[in-house]
Amino acid sequence: MTAMITIDSLTKKYGAFTAVDEVTFTAEPGRVTGFLGPNGAGKSTTMRVMVGLTEPTSGHVHVLGRPFGALPNPGREVGVLLDASAQHAGRTGREILTIAARTMGLPKGRVDEMLERVSLTEEEAGRRVRNYSLGMRQRLGIATALLGDPEVLILDEPANGLDPAGIRWMRDLLRGFGDQGGTVLLSSHLLHEIEVIADDIVVIGNGRIVAGGTKEELLASAGTLARAADPAVLSRALEAAGLVTSIADGAVFTDADLTTVGRAAFAAGIALTELRTADGAGLEEMFLELTAESQRDAVTDNKLEGAAA
Ligand code: ADP
Repeated sequence: MTAMITIDSLTKKYGAFTAVDEVTFTAEPGRVTGFLGPNGAGKSTTMRVMVGLTEPTSGHVHVLGRPFGALPNPGREVGVLLDASAQHAGRTGREILTIAARTMGLPKGRVDEMLERVSLTEEEAGRRVRNYSLGMRQRLGIATALLGDPEVLILDEPANGLDPAGIRWMRDLLRGFGDQGGTVLLSSHLLHEIEVIADDIVVIGNGRIVAGGTKEELLASAGTLARAADPAVLSRALEAAGLVTSIADGAVFTDADLTTVGRAAFAAGIALTELRTADGAGLEEMFLELTAESQRDAVTDNKLEGAAA
């Protein structure tokens, strides 16, 4: 499988400040890759470099095997949504899509198809964008990104402003895009959005990649949760079998996999009442831990005033 997006040792410095630091990862076809990190982690900068809006300091990014600027017809190959509010506020949604369709040489019918695909009604499409909610802007942005029937989607915080039903809607839409062989890279600063939508996850903190893999791998790396009538007894038995454990909320947590924990409990004659991957809370804790030192916006926003862009 060839990666559709390849980021190789990408570094972006603003003056003495390194916003993106030796970032390397790929996004594969048929998969939704989530780019997760707290605000200020370097997601937008990485994505701006991807689509040629920002010059990297070093390293490179290839989309469909080439730098974005070298794609013959980028609009038809890569759908981009970097800032849903960057659309002309005085135009209607339909006008924005119509202009984009003309620019790309697409038939007019494509506009109605896209409006329907993102569930914007006739009436909403006729409203000026300045009167759109953030969620409606996101839908319009997705419609614009999908317009040219691209193979690759690059979406910066597309779930921002969507309610839970909207997030589910986006998951289904991106899932469908992936199932047809498309490649999706989307960013978010919210773990649960990425957890719901993505197949693969890349975590960035402080400009650096701190974790990556399939969602299942990352969930598994969050360890195992086991319960028995007496957690202290279970914990002692697992420790005796060589596992490192901790107890929280009446459950025993360990880094060992499900089989190892199940066998150790069985060998000790302990009946488990629950045995599962410590997802949810576990992954959240991992995310918080991984990014605890990278909540740096407050500091850098002052420090960087006047830094060269
Ligand atoms: P994210 O998208 O993850 O929130 P960004 O890529 O927007 O993060 O920003 C990463 C860091 O780079 C932040 O600390 C931000 O303040 C800084 N930064 C972004 N753009 C510029 C710029 N043009 N000049 C100076 N610093 C910048």
